[in-house]
Formats: sequence, structure tokens, C-alpha cells
Amino acid sequence: MPKYLREIFKAATKYGFTIHTGPISQHLKGQMPAWHNIFSTKPRLDNLPQSQCPRSTHKIQLLEDSWLTIYTDGSCLENGTDEAKCRSGIWFGQGDPRNTALHCPGPTQSNQVGELYAIAWIAKTTDKHTPLRIKSDSKYVINGLTTYLQEWEDHGWIGINNKELFQATAAVLRLREAPTVLLWVKGHAGDIGNEEADKLVKEGANKTPPDNNDIVPNDNTILLGAKLCTMTQAKLYKGIKASKQTPFCCKAMINVERIKCSIKELTGHTPQDSAVWKSIHNKDISHNICSYLWKTIHHAYKCGEWWQQIPGYEHRADCPQCQVPESMEHILLECDSNARTIIWKLAQQMWELKGEEWPDLSWGTVLGIIISEFAHLIWKLRCERCIEYEDNADKFHSPLEIKRRWLGTMNRRLALDCTLTNSHKYGKRAINKHLVITTWSQIIKDERSLPKDWFKQSGVLVGIG
Ligand SMILES: [Zn+2]
Repeated sequence: MPKYLREIFKAATKYGFTIHTGPISQHLKGQMPAWHNIFSTKPRLDNLPQSQCPRSTHKIQLLEDSWLTIYTDGSCLENGTDEAKCRSGIWFGQGDPRNTALHCPGPTQSNQVGELYAIAWIAKTTDKHTPLRIKSDSKYVINGLTTYLQEWEDHGWIGINNKELFQATAAVLRLREAPTVLLWVKGHAGDIGNEEADKLVKEGANKTPPDNNDIVPNDNTILLGAKLCTMTQAKLYKGIKASKQTPFCCKAMINVERIKCSIKELTGHTPQDSAVWKSIHNKDISHNICSYLWKTIHHAYKCGEWWQQIPGYEHRADCPQCQVPESMEHILLECDSNARTIIWKLAQQMWELKGEEWPDLSWGTVLGIIISEFAHLIWKLRCERCIEYEDNADKFHSPLEIKRRWLGTMNRRLALDCTLTNSHKYGKRAINKHLVITTWSQIIKDERSLPKDWFKQSGVLVGIG
């Protein structure tokens, strides 16, 4: 065995993975170690060529008029939220009783799932000896099942969205005895089949989703694991991370639920958990704010109860001003401190200048990205009071100082936004200048006397406070 392989086997044992080799056919022996599959939870039954592609051996004489053309479409209501409902439409022809509207099963509901499920359903339910032409307007699904399929399978589907449904669809397509052709049609461009499939999709919303995902075929037809010879160190690392479950953090889950409820109250829609996590890693939020939000959601800050375990510092568990047990929630939403009241007042003033309605402050809105900069400032000032000034009220920040700190925060953010509009310097990471103008107009000082491209100038300041 070559040395590098021995190293990989050693690492796999260390991380608790088994490398399955399975019986190797004479034909494939020359390609070793191409068929060492890792990350697979079950040993593959065999590595014979026909199990790689069951369709490669069929020989059927086809008549041109025996082809069946089917149009598919998929869409999702309230995509990206917990209320998302994805549907598929399958159209065989005008007045054809086989025309179907489906409500897709499964925990993931998105446009792509709707498009993909339609194809899986066709492959599963139509006669497997009839050659099919499936016409879809989803390039994502067609490319995924054709151009990228081999690569994704070789890489063990590491980091691929909707991988279970893709795997199942590829497997049911391979079980067909007659050829299947996937064709792309431009959506909403007057193609009658596409328009009819789209109409069917809308009906799917009223259907009850199937209890279980019945399109998933027998496990033996799904390729498991990643091909060792296609792996890079980065891919392996991603695979290890994906297969190790992150420990469940109960407090964080509660906080995420609270944020979701607040957003539902404000907008009427409940975002998915992933959308909440994604929003705190948004490129528009600076790194220290991201880290502040992450730690707050995970209750990882040294405040309240945390101090009770530190001998000699137990008194810090209570808020010195309000004499109640302290928590991040108290600091941001309830505390009588000047810092909290002044900062929120200034933020509200700024908000109203923009003609926006100031939201009711709750745990969710505070941690929502919009006002997280201010929440972070309140926390920083609280840390200075508690740790640097040791709760000595004589040294506390004066209202004027608090205003200056607030202005400083806003001016730094404004300067950063202006710098980030430079697309020569930041390329794709640069932010849209129109977004900067609409965000900051009415808030900046002497706006009327500034040139139109004020964001290119240095020294533009916030004009409130
Ligand atoms: Zn307090």
C-alpha cells in the first residue's frame, strides 16, 4: 500500500470512519485506488461496472413515435421561510388525465425541490420501457442531473444542497430501461407545455403532501461515499465537518426561535433557522458585530449568572443600577442606564428621519441585523462601567460622552460603507453605491451642500445627536 494511502487509513481510523473497499472486479483492479469509497455509512455491495450505471447495458430498438414528452415545473410559496410550501406541476398534454399537481414532501421546501421532485416522480411512476423527453425550465436541475452528476457523486456530495433528492432522482432515472432525455425550455416564454405545467404548479398548493418520500428507491441503487482518488485535503475536511453533528445548543435554539417570532411579527413571515444564521454572517455586518451577535445568541457572554461562579466577583451577577439579576436582555432592553436610553433614542431619531416606523424593541429586533450596531455599543459601554470603572457611578459616561460614542460608531460605519463602494479595490466584495446613498441620505450632515458622489469623499459625517 502506498505511504499516502496508509496515512489516510490512519486518519480515517482516528476520526472514526471506515474505508470500504468491497470486492474489486478484475476490470477495475487496474484503477486502484479509484474505488476506495470513504464517508460511506454502509459497505457497497459490489463494484461491478453494471452497478455504476444500470442503464448502460440495455439495448432496445426505439421507434421515434414511441417517445413521450412531459413538461415539468416547480415553485415555492413563501420561499426561504418556515411556511414555505413547494409544489410541482407535471403536464402530459391538453386534457390528459395523467396531468398532475403535487405538493412536495420532505423537510426542505424550495423552488429547486419542486423542480427536482417533478422529475423524480415521473421517473418513478411512468412505464420504465417508454423513452421520455422531460422538458423543464430549471437549469439547476438539468445541469445537476447531467453535467455535474458524476463530479458530485465522485466527491461524495460534500457541500451539495438537496443531495438526498438528487441522489434519489439519479437512482430512479438509472433504473429506467428506456432512455430519458432532459431538455431545457425558457420559462414563461410562451411555450404551451411550460405554461400549462406552471398552471398545474399553482394547484399543487391545495394538495396534502405525501406522508413519506416514496420516490426514494432501495438503498443499493444509491452510490454512497466519496471516491478517494478525487479528494483533496479541503474536501476531506469539509466532509469530516459535515458528518460530525454539531452539538445541540438549547439556549441558542431558544434565542433563534425568539428572533424568528419577532421577525414574524414585523413582516408576517417566519424565516428559516438557516436564514437567521446566515443574516448574522452577512457581509454588510462588520466582523466584531458578527461575533457579538453569535456570542449573544449562544449565551456566551460574561454577564449575570456567569459571575456567580467566580469567587470574589459574585456581586457582578446583579445590575448595580437596577438591583436585579443581570442578563444581556436586561442590558439591552430594560436597564435604567443612561447609555441604553440615550442610544436607543438616537437610533429612533435616525430611523424616523428615514421615514421608517421605529419597531418595538424586543430580543428579536435588537438581534436582527438592523440595529445590532447599537446593541453592541450598549454592551461595550456596560462592560466599561462594570469592569473598567468597577461600577463607580462617579466615573460613568456622561450623556454627552454617550452621544459622542454613538456618533463615533455611526461615523465609523459611514466611512466604512463609503470605502467599501470602491469596486477597483474590493472587486466583488464592494457594496453598491446606490445602497449606500439610500441608506445614509437624510442622516448625513449638510447633505445639500455635498456633491452627488459624496461617498467618494472623506470626512462626510452623520448629522444627528
Ligand atoms: Zn440595569
